[in-house]
Amino acid sequence: MSTKIVFHPSPGYNAESEDDLNRDLVIKIIDGFGKESSRLSGQDVLIYFGMLSCRYSIGLRGALGILGIKNTPTYSNVYCLISGEFKETSNKSNFEFIIYLSKNIRQDDNKIFQTFTIAHELQHVIQYIHSKNTYKKHLLLYRYFYFKNEMNKQRYRNLPSEIDSFRKAKVIAYNLFGKEECDQFLEEKIIRGNANNDNDSKSYWENIKALDLNSSYNYEEEYSKLWNEYENTIENEIARIEKQNNSKSEEKDLLEAYRYFKNN
Ligand SMILES: [Zn+2]
Repeated sequence: MSTKIVFHPSPGYNAESEDDLNRDLVIKIIDGFGKESSRLSGQDVLIYFGMLSCRYSIGLRGALGILGIKNTPTYSNVYCLISGEFKETSNKSNFEFIIYLSKNIRQDDNKIFQTFTIAHELQHVIQYIHSKNTYKKHLLLYRYFYFKNEMNKQRYRNLPSEIDSFRKAKVIAYNLFGKEECDQFLEEKIIRGNANNDNDSKSYWENIKALDLNSSYNYEEEYSKLWNEYENTIENEIARIEKQNNSKSEEKDLLEAYRYFKNN
């Protein structure tokens, strides 16, 4: 069974330009996953042409693409934080997975740029299908760092599922467009970020450039290590939160992620 990809323009989006984001490109990206693409088969993935400008929205500033998954705490929480548009789409949708693409992706028709983002989000879909337990661990740690006020872009990019997705997207982009062209693209992004005093963008692309694809990386093992490191502290925080009557929203989110994790 092949993957059903549905493109959906957000209200106000110029429908005739649905081809901006080339359907053929998405199919090529999925093929680029090789045997892992079988994990996507039979899945309904909605690719949403957002009008969002994630760079300026709360919570996930700077995001180029975001994956929404049904029936998870992220679904009930994260998107409420961001904007009405996410909430509206996810409420109406029956899709298990929704890939939201920011305005930046829509406005720039560079195929390498689109590939880096779409392949990255699709790899998150594969991760989720492959191991829900690891995904739950990710979510819990993510919530914990937020709760501790220790979440920032650097930490986020270095979460194992992020590293894994960045790596996979780089492999696919290299295979589709060639190493030389992709490296040149990365270089241009870094130079532009620098020229525009846009440190977020500059460090985002530098991070991708620095990924060494010759070394191996196992994100599940990395989560196990992180889990060993934080398990006791998290359990203690949870016990404390459960005892109190009024919890702050970060505490509620942590608790929700913890219960989701424990509830297999
Ligand atoms: Zn990601």
